[in-house]
Amino acid sequence: MPSYVDPAKCDGCKGGDKTACMYICPNDLMVLNKAEMKAYNQEPDACWECYSCVKICPQGAILVRGYDDFVPMGGQVHPMRSSADIMWTVKFRNGNIKRFKFPIRTTAEGAANEYGGQKGGNLDDNTLFLEKELPQPTKLAK
Ligand code: SF4
Ligand code: SF4
Repeated sequence: MPSYVDPAKCDGCKGGDKTACMYICPNDLMVLNKAEMKAYNQEPDACWECYSCVKICPQGAILVRGYDDFVPMGGQVHPMRSSADIMWTVKFRNGNIKRFKFPIRTTAEGAANEYGGQKGGNLDDNTLFLEKELPQPTKLAK
């Protein structure tokens, strides 16, 4: 379900043409009401619930109504971002709170090696990376 802004917490990113939530939304859904200096989701039906705006908002003003396969019915889930990890807080309908902390990354910065050291081949080669693993077709005699 779509994100929504708590107007009591939003400070409009203290002015400027583009707020943090406007900058980060991949679908350009967040807009700023300049008269009120409050942001809002202009098209909730198009929201992907990607949580980007929730994570970037410096005021913690954006929330998402979670589906019940992800968040308990009537509950709320909120991520708090630090430079090393994200702390997810799940608040249940009865007031119980659970927190889960996950690192932002599991390898040291610059240490990721997604192709097992085989990266950086011949850029002029038209073959895709995984095609090199497949048997090549036999040429038919003319
Ligand atoms: Fe308001 Fe947060 Fe958006 Fe800034 S990022 S305008 S504080 S909702
Ligand atoms: Fe945009 Fe994602 Fe926020 Fe929805 S949850 S408004 S798609 S940034």
